[in-house]
Amino acid sequence: MTRFDTLAVHAGDDPDPQTGALEPPIVLSSAYAFEDAEDAATRFREGVGHVYSRWRNPTVEALERKLAALEGAEAAVALASGMAAVHAALVSCVSAGDHVIASRSLYAESVRLFEELLRRFGVEVTYVDATRPEAIAEARRPSTKVVYLETPSNPTLAITDLAAARAAAGDATVIVDSTFATPYHQRPLELGADLVVHSATKFLCGHGDAVGGVVLGATEPVEAARRVGVRTAGAALSPVTAMLIGRGARTLGLRMRRASATALELAVRLDAHPAVERVLYPGLSSHPGHAVAARQMRSGFGALVAFEVEGGLAAGARCYDGLEVITRAVSLGDVRSLITHAASTTHASLSPARRAEAGIGEGLLRLSVGIEDVEDLWADLDHALATR
Ligand SMILES: *Cc1c(COP(=O)(O)O)cnc(C)c1O
Repeated sequence: MTRFDTLAVHAGDDPDPQTGALEPPIVLSSAYAFEDAEDAATRFREGVGHVYSRWRNPTVEALERKLAALEGAEAAVALASGMAAVHAALVSCVSAGDHVIASRSLYAESVRLFEELLRRFGVEVTYVDATRPEAIAEARRPSTKVVYLETPSNPTLAITDLAAARAAAGDATVIVDSTFATPYHQRPLELGADLVVHSATKFLCGHGDAVGGVVLGATEPVEAARRVGVRTAGAALSPVTAMLIGRGARTLGLRMRRASATALELAVRLDAHPAVERVLYPGLSSHPGHAVAARQMRSGFGALVAFEVEGGLAAGARCYDGLEVITRAVSLGDVRSLITHAASTTHASLSPARRAEAGIGEGLLRLSVGIEDVEDLWADLDHALATR
């Protein structure tokens, strides 16, 4: 049992040894009974068995085993959100005086984590254009502990060459936010990354009904992330949510095959539409990261497509307002297609000049393609573009 779709269905959830229940029981117990003082002492000292559900919970561990199998990781720790995962991965690696190199193209909340949290605790951050791996080598200092990357990135779908970034990072820990690609399309650990983080809220869950995150990698750094992020900072995932994410993850391959194929088809059609200024999709040969994406992603290029509507902010907003099948909402990775207009929502706090610097045009729409029929999605986009 080594192939993705089989692992997605079976990994992590063996039948319950007591009852044979196929579905892993949702263990809602906060604490676990000890046999005696020696048993209690051993569990505390060596971290074996269960003590308290903030530290370890059997339902959450079943999800961790499944996600580790899909990512090809030795270990995984599931947390209360994607941001809790980003936080745990970073904070377990850095101390005051350390330096981090981060990609300039990141999920906005990750930037706030660097700016509003890590800087206050004496961690310096240098942002680089990670589509040029040599920029990582140029920014390196003796105190560089982490290189933090996201590929494809939000919302412009910039691609970082992970093998080249690994080589440029020297002995720094390379952390990759692989949320947009999912382990179905990309496995950064095989390309030399030390830790992978995902917002499990997105494709791993896939149904828009849970918030969670995961850190994956070798046992030692993952257990370090668990100690700081879960045991100490307390961002434990609820067992009920773990069950929902595990259930969603069983169909990850099915959903990604469908959504990625639809995304490519829509990207091609948008690219040929006279009302569209440009399309950013790593599967198009016109995308600057296409050659690298074709090498390091597999079985497709993911379900996110960004496109710039001709006519700037007002035209972008009118097209956005004209959609009827595609839902106007943040988040992504849902079975429903979701769309965001960056300039009026996620990136509204930036000036148009700062947005332009980040490659975010005023009419830029980011579409997370769901599993609806491609012709209904296209008819919706075509109609909305006509009303622009
Ligand atoms: C959503 C997202 C996050 C944050 O995850 P939450 O589950 O919302 O906390 C981090 N990185 C990327 C790329 C995301 O899309």
